[in-house]
Amino acid sequence: MNSRRMMVVLAGVCAAGSLVFGQEAKPGVIKLPALPYAESALEPAISAKTMGFHYGKHHKGYLDNLNKLIAVSELESLPLEEIIRVTAKAKDKDGVAIFNNAAQVWNHTFFWNSMKPKGGGKPTGALLEKLEKSFGSYDKFKQAFQDAATGQFGSGWVWLVADGDGLKIIKTSNADTPVAHGQKALLTCDVWEHAYYLDYQNRRKDFVATFLDSLVNWDFAAAQLSR
Ligand code: ZN
Repeated sequence: MNSRRMMVVLAGVCAAGSLVFGQEAKPGVIKLPALPYAESALEPAISAKTMGFHYGKHHKGYLDNLNKLIAVSELESLPLEEIIRVTAKAKDKDGVAIFNNAAQVWNHTFFWNSMKPKGGGKPTGALLEKLEKSFGSYDKFKQAFQDAATGQFGSGWVWLVADGDGLKIIKTSNADTPVAHGQKALLTCDVWEHAYYLDYQNRRKDFVATFLDSLVNWDFAAAQLSR
């Protein structure tokens, strides 16, 4: 994206600023948010080794790339979500690289928060009602989420998002994110192989079943509804 075009694009989005999970956009430095639990806290569902690589190498790698790419550009003073929106339709090499790395930083932070130790199972209250209204039952939601996860060809993400008064499941490829499409995410599962290969090898279906049964943080999902 050339700088003149970037300035025009920026003029349209600066008023909509927001922060996500304390990721402040100080000039040139977007911070890696701390994990909401210890790297070993999700064992045995996800090993400390997987978390160490996934958070410490993959997530941090996207963040380091992003900070390098936005340094000394008009983007460096923007919050992460705005960097994603500004570059979502970029076609040039730098713009695409910034989008991919920024979206992956956001997606991973959202994924860590979508899980908790001893999570999983059915939600309660208003969220359960919405889930039942939108999918027919919790079991039907679960099946649809698993089908979307196993049906995602290659790398990507499965999301529960708000859809008017209801909820729906979407999947995105590679780094793509609901933030780029103006959708409100409630929950996500990372289905890149790096998320599960050390623990589950090629058994993505087992990983996603474990995510739903033992890891989902429904309190976090419910909190997103009122954001
Ligand atoms: Zn990942």
